[in-house]
Amino acid sequence: MNSTIYAARPHNFNNILIAISFIFYLNTTQAQIERNVEIFPFIDTAHSQFKEIFIFWKSYMDELNLENLRNGAQLNKMPEPLKKYWAESETNAYDFPDLAYTYLRSKGGVWYTNDNEYLLGVTNRGNNLFQIKTLFNTTREGPFKGFPSVMLTIYVRKTSNGLQLENAFTHNMSSLIKDTANNITYYYPKDYAFADSISILLNQRIEQFKKGFNIENTKPIIYVLSNRLTAISQLFGIDYNYFDYASIANTIQGGYTLVNNMIFIGGGGENYLHEIIHLLLSDYERGSYSFFEEGIATYFGEHVGRTYDENMFHFKSFLVQNEWIDLSQSFYGYFNDTLNNRSDTLQPNIQADRVPFRDFDSNYNFQYMVHAALCDIAFNYCGYEIVKELYLCKADNEEDFYKCIEEVLEIKRADLNDSIRDFVNRNY
Ligand SMILES: [Zn+2]
Repeated sequence: MNSTIYAARPHNFNNILIAISFIFYLNTTQAQIERNVEIFPFIDTAHSQFKEIFIFWKSYMDELNLENLRNGAQLNKMPEPLKKYWAESETNAYDFPDLAYTYLRSKGGVWYTNDNEYLLGVTNRGNNLFQIKTLFNTTREGPFKGFPSVMLTIYVRKTSNGLQLENAFTHNMSSLIKDTANNITYYYPKDYAFADSISILLNQRIEQFKKGFNIENTKPIIYVLSNRLTAISQLFGIDYNYFDYASIANTIQGGYTLVNNMIFIGGGGENYLHEIIHLLLSDYERGSYSFFEEGIATYFGEHVGRTYDENMFHFKSFLVQNEWIDLSQSFYGYFNDTLNNRSDTLQPNIQADRVPFRDFDSNYNFQYMVHAALCDIAFNYCGYEIVKELYLCKADNEEDFYKCIEEVLEIKRADLNDSIRDFVNRNY
């Protein structure tokens, strides 16, 4: 057979086409779940090795997609049947061996499994190792529909036990140093000047926070750090992801995921407590209102690479310059209608209609800082105990959280705007 890649579609291509478009019906959700996969037309699909690898990869993704959707795109545990696709060294090293999924999980729900897949190619890297390059375009309704969500590099090895997936992270390990200190395993680039004394400092901060909050949590933490979050994405075989280039601000970024208990720090060094606080607090059950946890992590840890006090400098002057912001009305933002004096249309709890408060002169997140200030007020009032009480008060939305503040801090909602502003002006 003519094997040039420009050849017309080989006869048996139809078999692959049949395998390409599967439609699944999920009884549990009544939803129709379809995963479309298209193959780059120039690929020599007639090659038996290509077919074997393609079918293996596709069936992994089909199964992952089903499990992922069953779990609302928030898988925290990998079901056993899926683990069989992975090399034993990967399943031994990680509870959830798919580290690309783990990384994307740090940004919330993971939807790429259900996106349109464009398989760009499979190449042979020798030593029975194959590399797949594949692109996903989002199918989710919204202005981003049709845009790429992720582009991945996948490693598959042919072994005596059949094909097995290996993590890009494993293959990129030669560019990293692995260092274990206390309960943390750090991974950082070889040219990074890692300071043991700073990691000791982090451990002291962790112990202090745990003592204050009465936390027993001793789960080992995986701490991946680099100078840029983009570089960390690439370590996991993620050549592109939708959030990577979303902002032009050159900020220090971080992320955490309870999947494998990992944190990812881009530019924040070896002493970044913020993301670790999220991991430590994961043993507690709180309501779904997450901003106060961000406030705690910002107050005791850091935010965009700066301490709470450093961010407070900007936050304070922003509050002073923007007297119109009424923190008794909302911590999040304002309704366009509110400014037009049409308060009758106010619909509390709906964030989508609101314009978030934002300080364009700085890169801190206003919502994180206002909740950090509330944490500060609570901490000044009665230490860790009252911060914890406010954290554990079951708030599912902003309205609930205002009630929690009234209960725990005994500050009436109507007085809160003045209370926060007075507190900030008096102390900073
Ligand atoms: Zn956070």
